[in-house]
Amino acid sequence: MNNDSCLPDNSAPCSGLGYPTYVVNATSAKEVKLGIDFARKNNIRLTVKASGHDYLKRSAAPYSLSIWTRYMTGDFEYHDNFTPKGCDITINTTAVTAGAASSVSDIYSDLDQYNLTAVDGMGPEVTLGGYATGGGHSPLSNIYGLGSDQVYEVEMVTPTGKIIVANECRNQDLFWAVRGGGGSTYGILTRVTIRTVPSTPIAVYDFTIETPVNETSFWDSISYLLAQYPALADSDVAAYTYIYPNTSAAGVTSGQGNSSFQAVFALYNPTNQHELEELLEPFVQHINATYYDQQLRTEVSSTIFPTFYEMFMKYADDEGAGVDKVVGSRLLPPSTLKKGEFRDALIQFLGDAGGRLYMVSGKGVWNAEPRGGDSVNPAWRNALIHAVTSQSWTPLDERERDTVEHEINHVQVEAMRRLVPDSGAYLNEAYWDEPNFQQAFWGSNYERLHKIKKAVDPDDVFWCHVCVASERWQEVGNYLCRI
Ligand SMILES: Cc1cc2nc3c(=O)[nH]c(=O)nc-3n(C[C@H](O)[C@H](O)[C@H](O)COP(=O)(O)OP(=O)(O)OC[C@H]3O[C@@H](n4cnc5c(N)ncnc54)[C@H](O)[C@@H]3O)c2cc1C
Repeated sequence: MNNDSCLPDNSAPCSGLGYPTYVVNATSAKEVKLGIDFARKNNIRLTVKASGHDYLKRSAAPYSLSIWTRYMTGDFEYHDNFTPKGCDITINTTAVTAGAASSVSDIYSDLDQYNLTAVDGMGPEVTLGGYATGGGHSPLSNIYGLGSDQVYEVEMVTPTGKIIVANECRNQDLFWAVRGGGGSTYGILTRVTIRTVPSTPIAVYDFTIETPVNETSFWDSISYLLAQYPALADSDVAAYTYIYPNTSAAGVTSGQGNSSFQAVFALYNPTNQHELEELLEPFVQHINATYYDQQLRTEVSSTIFPTFYEMFMKYADDEGAGVDKVVGSRLLPPSTLKKGEFRDALIQFLGDAGGRLYMVSGKGVWNAEPRGGDSVNPAWRNALIHAVTSQSWTPLDERERDTVEHEINHVQVEAMRRLVPDSGAYLNEAYWDEPNFQQAFWGSNYERLHKIKKAVDPDDVFWCHVCVASERWQEVGNYLCRI
């Protein structure tokens, strides 16, 4: 996300503040090391960027030296089973080792040749570096867990410039911290080994509801359907839900808008062609029978994709980067969806521009047993839904940006914070200035993460806003000052 830095638009004025002064186009661990050593020895602000898809602005900073990992991709090494370096155990699953900047679409397309896939995102350009360090959700997370849970080993360069391997037998603290503790904090990952899983058929049931704006039947019908999500999760269904209370305000349609709800339900490896349809049709029939009138329309399509990759090609999130957009989010436990107060909180959370409810958690995330444990936000282990809302602003209109940020933080996300005060947020897709971020992003893991950070990076060679141990510094104007 570029957040009012140089916009990739010739007609827009341009500020250089989102850009570093120098960039190391690093293509090997050695080059990464040279960049880190140079920044450490010369006390220069350091940033790390792969795709630049970060909503929290962590991958860019003014007057910094940037290590750009964009081309540390591919170089795939396949394993029928995997023995982490220095371990005398063998992990009995297939796995792949890849460059840390390998993108989602590269990973899926490469694995597809071997009828394999992996837990990775739906944004084609998102890379392993940011994804696996932040948690990482996927349409398969409800079965296999989060992205961080899949990592068997990393090669990385530490803040002191050492090229090391971290796994459950070597450098265990770092191995724990980099899987959930966030990007650009403990060093730079150069290669990552993750579990791979069979690419089976996947059933998709794509259901939409549309009404004119402000119809009670819109909120009645979607509240009814969302209350069924916990039962669907028990049957291993995942769902990507897009809700626009006003498609015109959200910029989805021009002219007079509608209220629109789209839920893309997915069932990995269904036992038969109709399993997902049979799970969902009673709810759809209930909505059609109860709420159907001149105002409410529904539409359904049902498909079995032969491979995960084919499903991805149809449903990939091609939003891209380089836009002025602020997001806010909250992780919602299953019981939230049945609470009486949920409906009002949801309406407030979505605002006019709307948002997404990702049902990407479930048994796979709740019961995950990552090798050696990991530092993923414990709130994920109780959550069913990752709820995200967002708004955009007119480029370089600071007043509009301030208004939008205020609404997202103090009104929209606050509605969910009040509803589930004990939960937290998914750090990779959260409000960039989340209050009490330590608790919201890491809960009870924060103390250990902080301790490890102090031990491996006492001089804060790596620093980013709302990252672990970031409290020791403050951005004053364009400078970073020690507190
Ligand atoms: C269109 C879109 C779709 C998305 N879809 C999903 C999704 O399906 N599931 C999901 O969980 N998330 C998704 N995300 C969020 C995504 O996980 C985060 O934006 C993530 O931080 C992107 O990582 P990156 O490396 O691609 O981006 P960058 O902006 O380059 O990096 C993000 C952070 O990771 C750090 N970093 C990057 N590489 C390394 C490395 N090698 N070593 C150490 N630190 C590193 C950066 O310094 C920065 O702090 C999506 C985002 C977008 C914009």
